[in-house]
Amino acid sequence: MNLEHHFASLGEAFSSKTLIQPLLEQRLVEFNQSLATFLSIDIKSPATKLILSGEEKSPTSVSMVYAGHQFGGFSPQLGDGRGVLLGEVKGQDGFLYDLHMKGAGPTPYSRRGDGRAVLRSCIREYLASESMAALSVPSSRALALYDSKQAVYRETPEAGAMLLRVAQGHIRFGHFEYFFYQGKQAELDQLINYCLQHYYPQCLTTDSPLENMLIEVVKRTARMIAKWQSIGFQHGVMNTDNFSFTGETIDYGPYGFMEDYEPDWVCNHSDHEGRYAFSRQPGVGLWNLNCLMRCFSKHLEKNQLIAILQCYEPELQSHYDHLMMKKMGLSDAQHVHDLLPLLFTILAAEKMDYTVFFRLLSHINDTDFTLLLDEVVDRDRLSKWLERYKTARLNEGLEWSLVGASMLQVNPKFILRNYLAHDAILAAKRGDYLPFRRLLNVLNQPFDEHPESEFLAQRAPEWGRSLEVSCSS
Ligand code: AMP
Ligand code: MG
Ligand code: MG
Repeated sequence: MNLEHHFASLGEAFSSKTLIQPLLEQRLVEFNQSLATFLSIDIKSPATKLILSGEEKSPTSVSMVYAGHQFGGFSPQLGDGRGVLLGEVKGQDGFLYDLHMKGAGPTPYSRRGDGRAVLRSCIREYLASESMAALSVPSSRALALYDSKQAVYRETPEAGAMLLRVAQGHIRFGHFEYFFYQGKQAELDQLINYCLQHYYPQCLTTDSPLENMLIEVVKRTARMIAKWQSIGFQHGVMNTDNFSFTGETIDYGPYGFMEDYEPDWVCNHSDHEGRYAFSRQPGVGLWNLNCLMRCFSKHLEKNQLIAILQCYEPELQSHYDHLMMKKMGLSDAQHVHDLLPLLFTILAAEKMDYTVFFRLLSHINDTDFTLLLDEVVDRDRLSKWLERYKTARLNEGLEWSLVGASMLQVNPKFILRNYLAHDAILAAKRGDYLPFRRLLNVLNQPFDEHPESEFLAQRAPEWGRSLEVSCSS
């Protein structure tokens, strides 16, 4: 493993040297071989083993300092309270990727926390991030999971674990806020240059590198959130310290994948006001970008910053339209605009499963809608909508079965339902990782049929509908 240390070399204003502190009887229990191959990491090489297990004592790893708006209020200093950045490795695509260990022990930014993560949350993050990647959502990835015999105290004692994750970058909106609100202009400039060089080099040769980089950040954020909305993903804690400057989904905590269609759904039980409800995510993305833009108010004029922010909504809307067109098998955006509002009304009224609906829509033929009609109470209303849908699709003149086949490539059969994660976690706590691996396998290829794992496509049983997830992890 060829570990580089670009971020660490920015110096002490940006991070603190921090060692991984291994857990009691720590074991590697899952390893992402295809990602490792992409990153040219050989898990079996002794040097790599040493670094990844935390037994390597040379302090080249760091914890990063940042700030952030949490649920609307500004926290001037946060940071990696339970994570360390091991360094960067080059992927086969030539880009550098961060290796970041979660749950690695206390850091200078742990505040009152213990620096640890529990097995439950590491498994949830592993499954979610890999599922998102398979659904083509820009996301951090899971490279390795370690369990242990060490107890970590939350509401009750739980098994401690660590998760090694990979992302293009772990620089958050909150990194910029940290330096801006402290008036540390030189460090802010250093961070800007670092991001230009490492993440947005194509902007360096333009006449306004900073402005163009920020436009790209705005657009990437917009496209990421359009993706979330199209698949029914809810992040749960959209604080600016959980928003990446590289436009990747990071910080998987009390997230949720929507089952019954419910636009005002709040997956995080700690979010009492519903600030991060599903339907609010596009607006919150813009709110967060507003916070980010303020950090550049010494570099750019107000009207320039506003113009940059104005790229957000059209980018999000057009990308969302594009994604929904593919989900519905329609090539004319106007057809989607005509059909979607009523469809969402029907899905909400019927409490229809979002994923199941679009999967069945991909399967119906143009003469028989029974497959979908059998799912609802008000058959008449859905039947009328389906007639309009059929007319639109036939008007576009493409062969029905070919369109259906391409819909099956974008409408997943398998989604990370909360009760499935719950089952996998319970088994893992007993040392049985089979349910976790079985689930991971279908989430890695969510568009395939997997007849042997049909049960993993089922809707939640009654007990699985009231499971709660919160910020405690
Ligand atoms: P999160 O809600 O996971 O984004 O965490 C918010 C902040 O709290 C970040 O700075 C985390 O590093 C920190 N944090 C969360 N859990 C712990 C913990 N168990 N120990 C130390 N810091 C933590
Ligand atoms: Mg966080
Ligand atoms: Mg977190």
